[in-house]
Amino acid sequence: MRSNRTCATPLAGEGEYALVGHKWFLSAPMSDAWLVLAQAPGGLSCFLMPRRLPDGARNAFRLMRLKDKLGDWANASSEVEFCGAWARRIGAEGRGVATIIEMVMLTRLDCMLGAAAEMRMALAQALHHARHRRAFGRRLVEQPLMANVLADLALESEASTALAMRVARAVDAAARDPAEAAFARVATALGKFWLCRRAAGFVNEAQECLGGAGYVEESMLPRLYRQAPLNSIWEGSGNVQCLDVLRALAREPQSRQVLLHELEQARGHDAAYDAAFDALPPTGEGEVVAEAMARHMAASLAILLQAATLLRAGSPVAAAFIAARLAAPMPPAYGMLDASVAFSDILERAVPSR
Ligand SMILES: Cc1cc2nc3c(=O)[nH]c(=O)nc-3n(C[C@H](O)[C@H](O)[C@H](O)COP(=O)(O)OP(=O)(O)OC[C@H]3O[C@@H](n4cnc5c(N)ncnc54)[C@H](O)[C@@H]3O)c2cc1C
Repeated sequence: MRSNRTCATPLAGEGEYALVGHKWFLSAPMSDAWLVLAQAPGGLSCFLMPRRLPDGARNAFRLMRLKDKLGDWANASSEVEFCGAWARRIGAEGRGVATIIEMVMLTRLDCMLGAAAEMRMALAQALHHARHRRAFGRRLVEQPLMANVLADLALESEASTALAMRVARAVDAAARDPAEAAFARVATALGKFWLCRRAAGFVNEAQECLGGAGYVEESMLPRLYRQAPLNSIWEGSGNVQCLDVLRALAREPQSRQVLLHELEQARGHDAAYDAAFDALPPTGEGEVVAEAMARHMAASLAILLQAATLLRAGSPVAAAFIAARLAAPMPPAYGMLDASVAFSDILERAVPSR
């Protein structure tokens, strides 16, 4: 963001500027207005750039082309040239990143909710297929190995939805509750990284549950498969989220405290959870986690937070999730739950209700 070279020249009217520059990604070009960052005399600043001027004339920018994207086809993205486009400054000059980050916090939450929703939809499709398709003499859902895969997906889906909803609650409360604001600050980055990272592999596994039908466009799995990687890329890619988590832990004591408090409150219900909590790398004041280990740290915290959220909600799948994700090193693929897990109970809970 800070190396942005779009230039904002002040005009005669208070807070009005002319933008000159190029933007390689501008999504939703059919919108009535966009938030744009550009360099004003006082530094990088945030602007609202409308499609039309107050007198109704077209604003001075050109959509150069639409992007040819892997997926996300229902939402056009474009490349744009600003040719002296009229824009109004939002926030102070030089405070562009701080201003736009308020919006970015919400869009990062959107990414997390979107990833959880993609997983839930993919699971619903896989469950429907497996409950109706017969192979090798019985319905797929009755085949023990398929039940293991589906149950593991169901655990992931429920834990992801629970975490996304917990973060959404914190974002909602942030304006009136400083502790929830501090929690939202770090948990948004954690959840954006982990849920979005898990979604693509999850959708591919669900796709495979449909066999060949999951690879053809009559099913919705190809569309979900194309869409799934996007949330981990835009609005700050995975590494950027992980580095943000490190930054929050190192520089924002309140964020670190409320996160650890949230995790601590779930202790005492599950021995494997307690042991995983005790094994967390130190995050105390002055204890800096190496950048190269940021993914390790963020993933550990995100899985613990998913587990804590399930435990505190009294979810009947909390113990199975913790056993599968925290009690031992995480298996390299879905469908590797211990055979003693009650697959049918988990699946019954996961079947969409009418
Ligand atoms: C479909 C689509 C629509 C988009 N729409 C918009 C839009 O409307 N407006 C807009 O402004 N942007 C938009 N974007 C851009 C998007 O926000 C960026 O592509 C995204 O944030 C990643 O930034 P980048 O492309 O500059 O990648 P880079 O910053 O070049 O990053 C490349 C890789 O390097 C990693 N990386 C970066 N820094 C570090 C580091 N310090 N340490 C380790 N790894 C690092 C990143 O995690 C990433 O994996 C859109 C992108 C897509 C795909």
